[in-house]
Amino acid sequence: MRRFVCLLLATLLALSLCGCGGTQESRLELFAMDTYMVITAEGGDTEGAVKSVSREISRLENALSRTIDTSSVSRLNADGGARLDEETASLLAAALTYSADTNGAFDVTIAPLVELWGITSDDPRVPSQEEIDALLPLVGSEHIHLDGREATLDEDCAIDLGGIAKGFASDKAADLLSRSGADRACANLGGNVYVYSREGHDAWNVAIQDPKGENDYVCILSLTDHFVVTSGGYQRYFTGPDGTVYQHILDPKTGYPVQGDLLSASVILPRSGDELAGTRADAYSTALYVMGESGAADFWRAHRDFDMVLVTTDGRVVYTPGLASVFHEAEGESYVCEQLAE
Ligand code: AMP
Ligand code: MG
Repeated sequence: MRRFVCLLLATLLALSLCGCGGTQESRLELFAMDTYMVITAEGGDTEGAVKSVSREISRLENALSRTIDTSSVSRLNADGGARLDEETASLLAAALTYSADTNGAFDVTIAPLVELWGITSDDPRVPSQEEIDALLPLVGSEHIHLDGREATLDEDCAIDLGGIAKGFASDKAADLLSRSGADRACANLGGNVYVYSREGHDAWNVAIQDPKGENDYVCILSLTDHFVVTSGGYQRYFTGPDGTVYQHILDPKTGYPVQGDLLSASVILPRSGDELAGTRADAYSTALYVMGESGAADFWRAHRDFDMVLVTTDGRVVYTPGLASVFHEAEGESYVCEQLAE
């Protein structure tokens, strides 16, 4: 069978390379959750599969977006309390766990500061230190009180699920695609990638984008039934009046956009056995970016239940030992690839 490599998507934080040819393929592109998404499936009822994923993503966006007034999250933020649907309540519970896991590097109560900076809004600005100091006390998981489906927030606090909503959507996409009967499928939700191949079908080559844009990508990972979630500051940012670049991931301890030593952090997790693997990978990738290289390495050594690829500002691609057999350096690489010491 003639096979060729096609570039699924180049504009996202991560991109996928797939062999596609010969079998029937369905491909659906959509703009949702403030990003460009591509869903593909080969073999079986591929059209039904990609459409069901797209509907699911729209449904989740309407429930979880902080900027859609009627969403569950907006109602909670506006009223300071709400009886959540089971799904949103379980996602919020998971968010609290990730926050504890990452010692607050990932924290959904960052919302007031996200709003203050407005980095992904039409009207971003550099706030004063006084404004930041006034909002910092509102950040911290202790301000969220969750009792089953009943959620309350301390006064003036708010939540932003932007750091995990796409991961949660990718978990739902994974469930639908892996059960669809498709031979191979891929959901690329703006840097949150899920790839699936039924037994006997080729694995996917998932490429991690070069944050500097000098090469198309920094490495390729050959995977199936895995999530690859990338966080970085190189696509969502604004440039301040003095030329400083402010990217969209904030350090909950300082209230400032992270100015660390990573260009991107990718987390790789298998789907099997964990129905929130994509969500956790999303939370961790945001958190690792906040932690920086040595914090991320310490975090990995303390957990060892996920894999990661870090692209550093000094031109290295650092990957965990679990990826050794699936990691491929990019040709003509301008980065130095190195395996993280155990
Ligand atoms: P991601 O692209 O998954 O890394 O998520 C980044 C988005 O999560 C931002 O655009 C904010 O909406 C939100 N966010 C920013 N900083 C944090 C943080 N430290 N913890 C949790 N969410 C954050
Ligand atoms: Mg994230």
